[in-house]
Parts: sequence; C-alpha cells; structure tokens
Amino acid sequence: MPEYSKHSDTLWAPWRLSYIKGNDDTAVLPDPDRWRSGADKSCFLCRAAALPESYDRDIGVVARTDQSVVILNRYPYTNGHLLIAPLQHQATLPEIDASVLLDLQQLLAIWCQRLTRTLEAQGFNIGLNLGQVAGAGVPGHLHWHLVPRWPGDVNFMTSVAGTRVIPQALDDLWNQLRSCT
Ligand SMILES: [Zn+2]
Repeated sequence: MPEYSKHSDTLWAPWRLSYIKGNDDTAVLPDPDRWRSGADKSCFLCRAAALPESYDRDIGVVARTDQSVVILNRYPYTNGHLLIAPLQHQATLPEIDASVLLDLQQLLAIWCQRLTRTLEAQGFNIGLNLGQVAGAGVPGHLHWHLVPRWPGDVNFMTSVAGTRVIPQALDDLWNQLRSCT
C-alpha cells in the first residue's frame, strides 16, 4: 500500500519514482527540434510542452496556452487532480516572467470553475511544492497542484492506488475535461 494512501495530511507526498524519472513504458519523445530552450529531456512537463497537440490525449494534457500547460496527474490524490505548469523548465517563482505567472493564476481560476461544473468539486487544495525537501516530485519544473475535494474523499487512493484502473479512468476524465473547455 502506498504510504500516502491513508491520511489526508499526506496530500503533498512525493510522487512515484518511475513517474519522476520519466521512464514510463509509454513515454513518447518529441522531435528533437521541438524541445524548448532550457528543457530537461527527462522532465515529463518539458516533454508535454514539446509534444504536438496530437499527443494531448496520450499524455493527459487537457489545456494549453502560449505559456502554460494543464495536465492530468497520472497518480492523482483525488479524481481530477491537475498539474498547471509553465512551458519553460524553471524551478522557482522569481525565475518566471510576470506574464507567465498571471497566465498560471488565470488557469487555476478557470480550472477551479471547470472542475466545479464538471465534477461537482466542493472545494480545492491548491499548492506548490518548491524544492525536493518540500516534496517536489519534479523539483526542476515548478507546477501547481490543483486537487478537487469532496466530503469523505480521503479514502480515494486506498481504492485505486497501484491498480491499472487508473489509465482508463484518466482517459475518461480527459474526455470529460476536454469537452468542458
Ligand atoms: Zn521541465
């Protein structure tokens, strides 16, 4: 049983190692000329930024802007757990341009509304894990966690963690969230 499955106070636990390292069996790599400057080719967020939209379903991207990407967390703490990240591989808030910060905040607002409408979320945890000591799974590429909440949802991971039910559920969820945009 994963260590983060039991209690709500472990919501920001680090991600699974295979995901962090990007050594997923299904990993698709972008054409070499599509990587952004400064990209880390082992970073799944850089990979999402560099892949064309035709791969959005495969990699769980539900929305893109010129500066940011919104992606389903493949190891969600609750259903609909999104990651909202700049396209650039940047680790800290001061590195990020003001226009990109604004774009990221607007995406948080938009996706709170959409998750409320689509999944009837009743609350949210929104957080940044900055640095490895703070539990960042991908410390080099800052990303907001947007975690929708419902009464009694703390048992969610207990029922689905570690099972191959997740990819199918994510695919259905991707359809649902893409169509709400
Ligand atoms: Zn990156």
